[in-house]
Amino acid sequence: MLPVVLGLFFLAACAAPAAMTPRKKAPPSFQVDEGDAELADAVTAAALAWSYALGVQIRVGPSGDVPVFWVADLDVADPECAPPPDRPTGAWGGACTPGIGTPDVRILVNAKAPGRERLFMWVLHEMGHVLAGRGGHLGDSGLPADQEGAVMRRYNTGETDGFPHKSDVLYVCSSPTGIECPGPLGRLSIPEAERPLP
Ligand SMILES: [Zn+2]
Repeated sequence: MLPVVLGLFFLAACAAPAAMTPRKKAPPSFQVDEGDAELADAVTAAALAWSYALGVQIRVGPSGDVPVFWVADLDVADPECAPPPDRPTGAWGGACTPGIGTPDVRILVNAKAPGRERLFMWVLHEMGHVLAGRGGHLGDSGLPADQEGAVMRRYNTGETDGFPHKSDVLYVCSSPTGIECPGPLGRLSIPEAERPLP
């Protein structure tokens, strides 16, 4: 009996590492209508900010992988765009990202939302979900800790800095379903002498 049991255990132990190592992906490119300067500028700036922080190249163009486009309003009946139950009064959804982790992922930007001057921040946040291939936010169970001014907070009602913080970089680079980073700290994982210039 004993050799059989050992044999099974051995097989299970061999199979486990392969199952625990999901394949990381190259960063997707983002697709935006270049004739729409307002949205194209926001998407381009967001891609630059993430590229710099993560130490990868994220491209934007008319034929990118992940479309970013306006919608007349967010469909709150869509579970992927519904506001969370604890959303503070007066808060609104500037954008949402259905299909996270699928080839069908896309960023919908709410043309009806007030505070259009925060468009860049909405896109920056949603892009973080796409790059990490996951929903959820800083401070959620199993995810990096919340950080003042960070991009991947659940609510960005106050002042938010316009660049990914360390917790945001960890949010993407530690995600098993995310893009391949140079290391857990993105750009900062690259030896200083080898880092690309800003
Ligand atoms: Zn979010």
